[in-house]
Amino acid sequence: MRIGIIAYQGSFEEHALQTKRALDNLKIQGEIVAVKKPKDLQDVDGIIIPGGESTTIGIVAQKLGLLDELKEKINSGLPTLGTCAGAIMLAKDVSDAKVGKKSQPLIGLMDISVIRNYYGRQRESFEATVDLSEIGGGKARVVFIRAPAIIKTWGDTKAITKLNDVITMAVENNMIATTFHPELSSTTAVHEFFLKIVKK
Ligand code: GLN
Repeated sequence: MRIGIIAYQGSFEEHALQTKRALDNLKIQGEIVAVKKPKDLQDVDGIIIPGGESTTIGIVAQKLGLLDELKEKINSGLPTLGTCAGAIMLAKDVSDAKVGKKSQPLIGLMDISVIRNYYGRQRESFEATVDLSEIGGGKARVVFIRAPAIIKTWGDTKAITKLNDVITMAVENNMIATTFHPELSSTTAVHEFFLKIVKK
């Protein structure tokens, strides 16, 4: 199994480590590759889009020709885990808590409505407990960093967990979106859930 992680910015290393742990837990042989250009996507069985700044990730991906390639592959079923900025990249509908709607390059395939920087400036970063029992993970401490909120899902998208009534993880077929950073958590549940989708 070959897992690609987009490596422009954000927590590539942490995602790679967490993926490695999850592979070990599931006893799956796997390889992790950094994805920057379209050719890096060639043989991947699953892709992780990490956090960072969604505007920057989108613009760089577009410049390097990766964005269209990603859209096509994810649309054809490539298993995808988008965390924080990665969740924003996946969303069909995006606005910003402060500036409202502003166009930015997105993958835009998932039936979710997302508000960027939902938790505001004062609390750019916080820890909270989310219930991951829906994916077999139980309660887990996770980190939110200038996090977005998933305020709506439709179609086949399922809300997996919420924090104070705001969705923090959603799944639609081959796509998983989390507004928190599962790579910065002691639980590997989200990565294991993703790898199980890749394995199918
Ligand atoms: N606030 C960032 C954005 O809007 C996301 C933050 C993150 O990925 N940690 O893109």
